[in-house]
Formats: sequence, structure tokens, C-alpha cells
Amino acid sequence: MPEELVVETEGLTKRFGARVALDGVDLSVPAGVAFGFLGPNGAGKTTLIRTLLGLTRASAGSMKLLGLPVPEQRARALQRVGAIVEEPRFHPHLTGRQNLQIIAAARDEAARGRVDGALRRVGLADRADDKVKGYSLGMRQRLGVARCLIADPHLLILDEPTNGLDPAGIQEFRAMIRGLVVEEGRTVFLSSHLLDEVEKTCDAAAIVDQGRVLVQGTMDQLKGTGTGANEVIVGVDDLDAAQRALADDPRVGALNEADGALRVTFAGDPAFAAELNRILVQAGVAVYRLEPVRQSLEQRFLEITSRLEAVPA
Ligand code: ATP
Repeated sequence: MPEELVVETEGLTKRFGARVALDGVDLSVPAGVAFGFLGPNGAGKTTLIRTLLGLTRASAGSMKLLGLPVPEQRARALQRVGAIVEEPRFHPHLTGRQNLQIIAAARDEAARGRVDGALRRVGLADRADDKVKGYSLGMRQRLGVARCLIADPHLLILDEPTNGLDPAGIQEFRAMIRGLVVEEGRTVFLSSHLLDEVEKTCDAAAIVDQGRVLVQGTMDQLKGTGTGANEVIVGVDDLDAAQRALADDPRVGALNEADGALRVTFAGDPAFAAELNRILVQAGVAVYRLEPVRQSLEQRFLEITSRLEAVPA
């Protein structure tokens, strides 16, 4: 059975004038995991989330949320999606519980029955009858997640959810996310610029830089353990023809040129390298080198971030 995907994008592109914020993003987020969307500041994380949610319009490409094409069926898809894009806002003079009751009242009976459970799930049961104006940032973030839970979402989308939290707040948040995934079977898609956070919280991730997904897979795949290398350097006689031959293959992740060769990433079985060779040869491209890249996730991420820091502002 094919893996169920909760987010799928193909060639998703978003331009702001001449600036390309998303550059042909192909992303596949499987159901039932915590998925990290990891990249440095300005990589395009918020833009991807805003585009998925319909807060901004894509310039090109296609997307599916919970298997439904968006924007065509966005309203239906969003019924089972909860999202926090900016710091969540509440009525400060009302209690946490009252804030959630207002949200639930606008929905159905089932939603009204979820208020207490949601408060317990995010660890706010003890403080539920305190006014929100006395809540810490971490408590407001967790109340934001509780608000999402009122809709009993399959998918939660959280943009940099631990920004500004202290170490204790981060730990509580992480435990809460693991609970949502492991105990309740929900999928959590969270963006972050912190490798450590994604490593500790997530089962799978994509690394994004300058609007492009460089690599995606399970944490084991990304770390280069588990199934091993998932990136190869391919030396060919015709780079353009090779790119054309591989561009539409769904198994191929990022395709980049580096030092006169192609760097090809793919998730899953390393034996796909042999298939890659076959595809190229069948397309009439001569392959004279095929070499796995073994790199730790940390090396990879540091390389990306240090290169960005070296660029003058
Ligand atoms: P951060 O962690 O800093 O929020 P990010 O990965 O979320 O970074 P985005 O906010 O998605 O990155 O920005 C990606 C690129 O798109 C940046 O170069 C940014 O300047 C640009 N951008 C985002 N929104 C707009 C906008 N409304 N108008 C013009 N450019 C924009």
C-alpha cells in the first residue's frame, strides 16, 4: 500500500517580484510523524506554510493537503488541519478555558466536548482558569495548540513553535508534540532553524535552503545511518540531458550541479543509485562516476548555514 501523505507539493514556486522565496519545492510529508522543516532564516519556511494554508498564492506548482488538492478543495482540507503561523492571539482578560470555549462554541457539539481534554493534553489543566494575560509565552503557545485540537486535526502545522521559549518551555513543548504524534497518531509539521530541535523532536525532516529542498527523509536516512547514503555525485558527459532525464522522477529529491557533476538526493533504498545509472544510460547520457556522499546531518546543516553567514548582508 502506498504511504499516506498529508502534505505533497510538486514544483511549488513562490515569487515576490524578482525574489524567489520557494523554488520548485517537492515535499512529501508522511502521516503519523513529527516532520521538521529545517532551514536557516530566510530559507522559505514561513512562505511554504503560508502558501499551503492559502494565506498567500503560489506562483506555480501544485499542492495537496490531507490528500486533497488545494486551493481547489482547501476549505475541506483545512477542516482537519490546525495551524499556528504567528504567535497565537487570545482575549487576555479571559481565562484559557474561556478562550477555548469561545472557539468551540462556534463549532459543533463534539468541539465543545474537546475543551477539557485539549487543556489537559497541552499541560494547562491546572492553569486553565487563570486569565491569559498572566500566561508565559510557552503557556500561550501551548494554549495555541489546544485551540487547534478543538478541531481534532489530523495535521498540525506549527511555524517555529519554540521561538522565544526558555529551555524548560522547549522541553515541555517537545514532550507535548511527541504525545500528539505517538499517543494520538496525529501528524505534526513544524518549521525550525535549529538542527538540535528537529533531531530531538522529529521522526523525519526536510532541509530547505534558498527556497529549495536539499534533502528529505527519515532522521536515520538524513543522518546517513539506517539505510545509508541517500545522496550521490554523478559524473556525466551531458549535464543538461542528465537533469532532464531525472527531473520528473518522483524518487529523485534535489538535483544540483556541483563542480561539473550532478548531486542527486533521494530518500529510501541506496540501491536506487543503480536505477539512477540505468535511467541516465537509457536517456543516452554517459555516466563515468557514481559516488555516494556520506555526510552527517550536522555537517550538512553547518555547511548550509556557514555559507549563508559568509554572504555579506
Ligand atoms: P525566518 O526563519 O527568518 O522567518 P523563513 O525560512 O521563514 O525565515 P521566509 O519568511 O519564508 O523564510 O522568507 C523567504 C524569502 O522570501 C526571504 O528572502 C524573504 O525576504 C522573502 N519574503 C517573504 N515574504 C515576503 C513578502 N511578503 N514580500 C517580499 N519578500 C518576501
